[in-house]
Amino acid sequence: MSENILVTGGAGYIGSHTCKVLAQAGYSPVTLDNLVYGHPWAVRFGPFVQADLLDRATLDRAFDEYRPSAVLHFAAFTYVGESVTDPGKYYRNNAAGTLTLLEAMRDHGCGRMVFSSSCAVYGLPQALPLTEGHPQAPMNPYGVSKAMSERMMADFGLAHGLRSVCLRYFNAAGADPEGGLGEDHDPETHLIPLAVEAALGKRPPLQVFGSDYHTPDGTAVRDYVHVLDLAQAHVAALRYLESGEANDASPCSAFNLGTGRGASVAEVLAAVAAVSGRAVPHTMGPRRAGDPPMLVAQAELAEKVLGWRPAYTDVLEIIRTAWDWHATGRGAVLLDS
Ligand code: UDP
Repeated sequence: MSENILVTGGAGYIGSHTCKVLAQAGYSPVTLDNLVYGHPWAVRFGPFVQADLLDRATLDRAFDEYRPSAVLHFAAFTYVGESVTDPGKYYRNNAAGTLTLLEAMRDHGCGRMVFSSSCAVYGLPQALPLTEGHPQAPMNPYGVSKAMSERMMADFGLAHGLRSVCLRYFNAAGADPEGGLGEDHDPETHLIPLAVEAALGKRPPLQVFGSDYHTPDGTAVRDYVHVLDLAQAHVAALRYLESGEANDASPCSAFNLGTGRGASVAEVLAAVAAVSGRAVPHTMGPRRAGDPPMLVAQAELAEKVLGWRPAYTDVLEIIRTAWDWHATGRGAVLLDS
């Protein structure tokens, strides 16, 4: 019998790709998702429990039924702007949700967790590329909720022996090139899907948020990392926890996940045009409040400790997989089926 792994948020974008990679690696993913943003069609690799993280009774039943050896914790609200206007929603779902989950794990003797964290825990970079030791000064409740969750995990490690890994994603992008899984947010706020859908004529022209940054072409730079590479990092983190390398001296570790290469908004639009053969309709607009000019990861620690290296290092190849997903409407096909 393969090990059950509880995947909170397994019906979401990164969680569903990770369930596929987990199944390929010989694990049995059990998805737990409240389907507020997740999709039933994305749950394809194991059992499904529809539940909210704050629903402790259903969590208890899931732990009793499936006896997972570890939890991969993706479930979270992720709209940074909304977290500023409705912070309670983010502290309740992301921070209190993580606490409920940690208490359930403690009470059911489940001692391993991999957490979907974010480079938002750092705030405005003081130096680039960002290392894991960069001071943490998150600029919005979303980032604070991730930093709080990391802190809770560390404290549960010291008090209760939890062994955990926090994976700080930079900009997740792309889709499974084999089809069937991809990015499908509603509302969509991310650059690559908006650019692809603008090129397809499915959306109005994209607005570029700022062209007066101190970057080579004046537009903001981000480190785009392929969703399947993020998924692989979770399996690597699980194996790291199983190996016993996380110990009393270091119960909770954090790793950046990025390619170490930045791409500007203008470069992303050019790459979408190159992949699709269509120009991306766009207008130039003002900066978006709270957007740092540049975010690029130093991801060598993940390579050194977890043996993780992204397979996709070229933003054009990442965008090609996103284009294939959106252009063929595979999400829509699955919804209809
Ligand atoms: N961006 C943009 N127009 C949009 C959406 C995003 O110019 O309609 C920019 C945004 O300002 C940032 C980059 O694209 O510099 C990536 O934004 P996204 O929302 O995808 O990820 P974030 O880095 O904000 O998490």
